[in-house]
Amino acid sequence: MSHKYVYQFSEGNGTMRELLGGKGANLADMTGLGMPVPHGFVVTTEACTKYYDDNQVIADSIIDEMFENVAKIEAISGKKFGDPTNPLLLSVRSGSRASMPGMMDTILNLGLNDKVVEGIAELSGNPRFAYDSYRRFIQMFADVVMDLPKHNFEVIIDEMKEEKGIVLDTQFDAADLKEMVRRFKEYYTAHKNEEFPSDPRVQLIESVKAVFRSWNNPRAIYYRRLNDIPASWGTAVNVQMMVFGNMGDDCGTGVAFTRNPATGENKLYGEFLMNAQGEDVVAGIRTPKEIEELKDVMPAAYDEFVTICNKLEAHYKDMQDVEFTIERGKLYMLQTRNGKRTAAAALKIAVDLVNEGMISKEKAVLQVNPHQLDALLHPQFDENALKQAKLIGSALPASPGAASGKVALTAAKAVEMKNAGEKVVLVRLETSPEDIEGMHVSEGILTARGGMTSHAAVVARGMGTCCVSGCGDIRFSKNGTFELGGQTFKEGDYISLDGTTGRIYGEAVKTVPASISGDFETLMEWADEFRTLQVRTNADNPRDAKQAFDFGAQGIGLVRTEHMFFEGDRIKAMREMIVSKSEQQRRRALEKLLPMQREDFEGIYEAMQGFPVTIRYLDPPLHEFLPTNPQDIKDLAAEMNLEVSELEGIIESLHEFNPMMGHRGVRLAVSYPEIAEMQTRAVIEAALNVSRRHPEWNMVPEIMIPLVGEVNELRYVKDIVVKTADELIAASGLELKYLVGTMIEIPRAALKADEIAKEAEFFSFGTNDLTQMTFGFSRDDAGNFLTHYYDKKIYEQDPFARLDQGGVGKLVDMACRLGKEGRPNIKLGICGEHGGDPSSIDFCHRVGLHYVSCSPFRVPIARLAAAHAALKNK
Ligand code: PEP
Ligand code: MG
Repeated sequence: MSHKYVYQFSEGNGTMRELLGGKGANLADMTGLGMPVPHGFVVTTEACTKYYDDNQVIADSIIDEMFENVAKIEAISGKKFGDPTNPLLLSVRSGSRASMPGMMDTILNLGLNDKVVEGIAELSGNPRFAYDSYRRFIQMFADVVMDLPKHNFEVIIDEMKEEKGIVLDTQFDAADLKEMVRRFKEYYTAHKNEEFPSDPRVQLIESVKAVFRSWNNPRAIYYRRLNDIPASWGTAVNVQMMVFGNMGDDCGTGVAFTRNPATGENKLYGEFLMNAQGEDVVAGIRTPKEIEELKDVMPAAYDEFVTICNKLEAHYKDMQDVEFTIERGKLYMLQTRNGKRTAAAALKIAVDLVNEGMISKEKAVLQVNPHQLDALLHPQFDENALKQAKLIGSALPASPGAASGKVALTAAKAVEMKNAGEKVVLVRLETSPEDIEGMHVSEGILTARGGMTSHAAVVARGMGTCCVSGCGDIRFSKNGTFELGGQTFKEGDYISLDGTTGRIYGEAVKTVPASISGDFETLMEWADEFRTLQVRTNADNPRDAKQAFDFGAQGIGLVRTEHMFFEGDRIKAMREMIVSKSEQQRRRALEKLLPMQREDFEGIYEAMQGFPVTIRYLDPPLHEFLPTNPQDIKDLAAEMNLEVSELEGIIESLHEFNPMMGHRGVRLAVSYPEIAEMQTRAVIEAALNVSRRHPEWNMVPEIMIPLVGEVNELRYVKDIVVKTADELIAASGLELKYLVGTMIEIPRAALKADEIAKEAEFFSFGTNDLTQMTFGFSRDDAGNFLTHYYDKKIYEQDPFARLDQGGVGKLVDMACRLGKEGRPNIKLGICGEHGGDPSSIDFCHRVGLHYVSCSPFRVPIARLAAAHAALKNK
């Protein structure tokens, strides 16, 4: 038998997500469970991949298979595709393996043409409904399949409203809608130089192709990058018999969550509209009613719906997000999926499901997406500042958190302002999937339209971005301003939103970091039971170290010592050290730096309460510290008894063409060993001081030499470190162990890791530099051109954010193996940015690192991601 590319819902099941996509697999599941699902079939993700492999052509054999399956729906339903006497209409929807809400395309009411519409009018006894469906279909098909934007048709609708002197779509009668169809088709022909396709066969083939194409539209690509979804998965296409929620007052449509997606409360939560199609609920054009009110309108349908929701939750053992339609009093289920939820809700639901005996702790831990914890760790308003702030309006609290920033009125403007370093609040009539990037860069989102399940609400919740929606009091004007609460706003004015209460303030309001407790602690404790990777933090001062400790960090994987030298008087001493012409002069400057550094280290050791602390020696290109403005140069010259011109000459001589590959890292200590000497004194003296106060901590400081590529350079610096440290320890009369290790951040170090391990007691992978040097592009500049690489699908992800496992990762893997050959008990960790990225953490687990180290606010994310890695790779 030839390969099967099309499956009836009744042929599939929930385990076939990879092939049928999430939506298709769940529709198959619901069909199998005997739930009322309109008949349909799935064109598989393999068909999508084949479509791309075949240069964007659907093979004839797949088209034949599709129509064999249309015939099966015809046989079951008794209706016929394209037959005016008893027409079958179809919906075509995308559905990939991972849910990507609104990112790809949908076409409804497929199969309509001038003859079929008359049949529908007659059969339904409702010509208005028939023509309304027809005009919607033309609009959707033209937009999705033929690239004629929907809003061009809105202009025609507005013209007709003006001619008729009406304001609402609902005021059009059947004759108006028929005229609208005529004008739509006329417009279509004028712009496409061809008639609107009336053959339902062509409509179906072209629609399926369009859904395949939408897998690669820019917003889908962006969403995939954000959510780690590989392009190779492709999307499936669900073709399903239409049922109508807009046929009359005994029809309706709605969406619901089996638990509250904002708080996690175990209570059905949703919205519906009578006499409407699904897009009306989601687009937020009409304001929907709460799901409980359906009980009064249609008690039988409501009861059946509640029973199905309970069954679905028990089946999937997770909160479900469902769509339904009621046609002539009969309930149909159109979709179910695990519902998107806020971070707080995710934790509550996971913990509740364990307490309800529905799932195990392992499952609960796996159910919470580590990325999501970000939202819990994000700011809230400062209570005192909030008391002073003027409330100018309120609307639906669509996604919690606090946001304060400058108004942007379009997604593009939001991106532009963000790139210019502004904090942005995006204010829109309503959002659509095209706005995804603008939404992502915004601190908060405010929309004039839309309910709790509108696009803005669902997407913002998923991103953990604060959102207030459905603010009907906003009045937009044509000159790029809007009015709210008697205040007029233009782009660049401050506004603040509280996504938890729905309140809006017409000014900047101070925000404070989030506080976490309750279910968070419980889930984190469970995560800690399963993970084998330790989680450390990158912190350069006692405050950050304390924050990370409170978030559960088990040590510090990277103290960037140079970060301590930017503040106040320190920069002066640092500059003096850099421009010194002799060792003597340099030692004088280093003497000034020593007490500051020692004091910082003591503070950091204290904050970590005996957990290991890795201190990295001076690393950056020295020019980063040099004075550039004339006053600073004059001051420094005076301090050092130099002529200004002489100092300018020294600064000039320190210029490097490629500082990132210049005089930095271990090379500084090779040129000026006295720097390593001073830093060793600071590390060891601070440790001795703290050990005196806390002998029970058994401190073992870890000294890390950066940017090593050759064992001899490490050995040279290590000798200085050991000599200095041992003298200090001997003189103190105390016992103190310490380790000397290195970063692996130059490809040569990875290649020579066995030799280097002979001298290094630990390796810490500096994957920022390792990525930079392996790819050969600058970590500071790559952002400028990488967008072209994403657009052209050369790279899917930013390699500085997600570890390039196939390339850079190969070096890491090799260095781990070679390192263990050189020193079997070598300690292995990572301190590049990737240490806080869940997919990279999974990799770190697999190659056998002992710990990851990341910024303090990512510590909880890393703890959970490490647990995921342990559970998934069991
Ligand atoms: C690295 O290169 O990965 C690293 C952690 O060091 P830095 O970012 O300070 O260069
Ligand atoms: Mg580095």
